[in-house]
Amino acid sequence: MPRPVVPVPNELSKPFWDACNQRRLVLQNCTACNRLQFPPERTCAECGSGQHLDWREVQGRGSINGYVVVHDSRLQAFWEQQPYNIAIIELEEDPGIKFFSNLPGEPVDQVPVGARVELMFEEAAPGRLVPEWRVVAQTRPPSRI
Ligand SMILES: [Zn+2]
Repeated sequence: MPRPVVPVPNELSKPFWDACNQRRLVLQNCTACNRLQFPPERTCAECGSGQHLDWREVQGRGSINGYVVVHDSRLQAFWEQQPYNIAIIELEEDPGIKFFSNLPGEPVDQVPVGARVELMFEEAAPGRLVPEWRVVAQTRPPSRI
């Protein structure tokens, strides 16, 4: 399992990382479109406005949309931790919002696609938290009649 990379907040992403350090997940929200946006941008991708973006806390529930297994990272820092999962998490509150997750606790290449996940935080450095996701329940295969 890769150790989380310590985030380097910039002016745009600082509110996101500050909230993470308080174990909260906040996303940009365009009040003109009533639309969430992640990662943070200077303007709303829908209406182009930079005047209507604020931050909204979300609950942090989602599901696994798919995954890949990394065997040959281009980042040398991850080589000794290979192979590892990278799953795509679809946010329940807005399925258009996607996160990447290493799914701590799930065996490599045995990711339960479709399973529900919930937000957790991992400490990348003292007091510096990064969002992660863990499986809460697996969807059962459809039962046959
Ligand atoms: Zn907008």
